[in-house]
Amino acid sequence: MEASLDVVRLIDAKRLGRTLTSNDLHELIRAYQRGYVDDAQMSALLMAGVIQGFDASEAAALTDALVASGERVDLSTVPEPTVDKHSTGGVGDATTLVVAPMLAAAGCHVVKLAGRGLGHTGGTIDKLESIPGMRLDLSRAQMLEQAMRIGVAIAEAGPELAPVDKRLYALRDVTGTVSDIALIAASVMSKKVAVGAKHLLVDVKAGNGAFMQDVEHATELAEMCLSIGRASGLKVGALITDMSQPLSTSVGNALEVRESIEVLRNERHGPFRDLCVALCVNALVLTGVSTRAAIDTTNAVLCDGSALEVFREMVAGQGGVSAVVDEPRKHLPDAPVIVEWSPGAGYVSQVHAGRLGQIVSRLGAGRWRSGDPIDPRVGVEVLARVGAAVEAGQPVVRVHAATPEDGDATLAALPGAVKVAVEPGVRPPLIHQSVGLESTGTA
Ligand code: URA
Repeated sequence: MEASLDVVRLIDAKRLGRTLTSNDLHELIRAYQRGYVDDAQMSALLMAGVIQGFDASEAAALTDALVASGERVDLSTVPEPTVDKHSTGGVGDATTLVVAPMLAAAGCHVVKLAGRGLGHTGGTIDKLESIPGMRLDLSRAQMLEQAMRIGVAIAEAGPELAPVDKRLYALRDVTGTVSDIALIAASVMSKKVAVGAKHLLVDVKAGNGAFMQDVEHATELAEMCLSIGRASGLKVGALITDMSQPLSTSVGNALEVRESIEVLRNERHGPFRDLCVALCVNALVLTGVSTRAAIDTTNAVLCDGSALEVFREMVAGQGGVSAVVDEPRKHLPDAPVIVEWSPGAGYVSQVHAGRLGQIVSRLGAGRWRSGDPIDPRVGVEVLARVGAAVEAGQPVVRVHAATPEDGDATLAALPGAVKVAVEPGVRPPLIHQSVGLESTGTA
């Protein structure tokens, strides 16, 4: 049937602002997958849709069609509660590394299929790969066995999961059609529905380091993800969290793993830990636990070391050097060149997450094209957040570089991302709001 699909009719309809039916969208995705619709036609339709807008019914139908383009993970043998946490992507955002073992220690089962970083945002798989020996290419059977044994497995999402989303995403990337809310919601939710966890917490980032630059658009994206998730039978909620400055002190793969382990060791406090706690609390509440019990359990698994032990077992189960949890500085790769940057006295008025992410990518921590190699050792530590007072000579950024030249280039670029002013600026909140949840769950 899709061989005779009149794709020009669909492009015209979208150009004129009409809503495509579920049947139209399913046929379109099937035809594109089989080669009856080419990239030029799909680009034209996407651009017409971005200009005219896709509505919630189109986002839901597109999600279903993308899920149907691939396989689904069968979690029926994994005991409930099955939980997933998804971040829409940011800078210095390694919450999965902390929250997934916390949830497992709290009695949930987390089967996490994650991605690599692209552009200025980091990816969970790249981060975990900086642990020597760690394997992220687990088979389905290995993932399920490990999730049942210790509560968590994290592996790289393969091409069998929503494969047309992968092709569409690459096409959107080069045709200026990424930043459409319905397209992002369908793309994100197709992969979540295909993985099959019953409970999903979406961390929608808002700010200059995120897809959504402001809270209003981030909330719109969250609401669309929620309505798609509910239509697919998921218990789903969202937090809108700040991405105008990096979440953690560290930005860079091994550095973020180190900081995550230090949080799990209960040695590091601050906004990164606070958000991990809020995400864990809210995910537990989604599973039916009371807010009070969720807060108590979350604090307990962090303070009594049980989340750390789950992380240790996960690393060992996936071939990594598990002593990394005892001595992260000894076992994680470190950069040969460390230089510090002191911008002078005043108050930190900006740590531009987007620009800093680009600077760290240029150091070698990220990639511009999929498949490019990355350097796990490099990155930056931002030692003061927006609003902090700094003295003359006080370092605000510590650069970890592969060569002295890279270190110097980064020092030259930092004034474009980090600013110090005479007046204290406004500190952005860590969590802007919650959507579809009982509370923001900050403990
Ligand atoms: N993340 C996705 O998976 N898809 C998008 O379209 C944007 C962010």
